[in-house]
Amino acid sequence: MNIVLMGLPGAGKGTQADKIIEKYAIPHISTGDMFRAAIKDGTELGLKAKSFMDQGQLVPDEVTIGIVRERLSQADCEKGFLLDGFPRTVPQAEALDSILVELGKSIEHTINVEVEKDELVARLSGRRICKVCGTSYHVVFNPPKEDGKCDKDGGELYTRADDNPETVSNRLEVNMNQAQPLLDFYQAKGVLSNINGQQDIDKVFADLDALLQGSRS
Ligand SMILES: [Zn+2]
Repeated sequence: MNIVLMGLPGAGKGTQADKIIEKYAIPHISTGDMFRAAIKDGTELGLKAKSFMDQGQLVPDEVTIGIVRERLSQADCEKGFLLDGFPRTVPQAEALDSILVELGKSIEHTINVEVEKDELVARLSGRRICKVCGTSYHVVFNPPKEDGKCDKDGGELYTRADDNPETVSNRLEVNMNQAQPLLDFYQAKGVLSNINGQQDIDKVFADLDALLQGSRS
């Protein structure tokens, strides 16, 4: 069960990833976690990645790809893995294909959790934070008992500048432009499955699960 999971910020990819790895007992492989592990283990590539990150630079593809190769070679990936946040670009996707050929593996599911932009903006701009204690709420998913007030201390709730709809919309636009070539790449190969992420969390997972089950005959 080798899976690549994609989705824009706010699409609920992380939540679904958690559910998949729990049900199928496969490792969740995100770029952030991989970097942290490689750095902690002090591998050559980990140290290289760290030197770029310490300077506030993007880690170059060759280093990232090397770290992915190391990670996918580990024993816990034998029964499958869920890749999250990698690949991000077409060159990375092509590199992943070569790594998998080298390792005698292949991706069974390339899944995109789809949510319309307006809905993403609504989700991502709904965060409200307490001025007193910093607790965060969400107007839809985790609303306070009383509108605009913290449940714990009655403090006033505010919206961070980062979370205002226009900023969120601009940021999403950038993400969408980055993601599109990768979606086109997988679409052209005929391996892309779209899952409707604009439903109840459990229904999204039921759809995902049906898709994954379909391949297990
Ligand atoms: Zn508070």
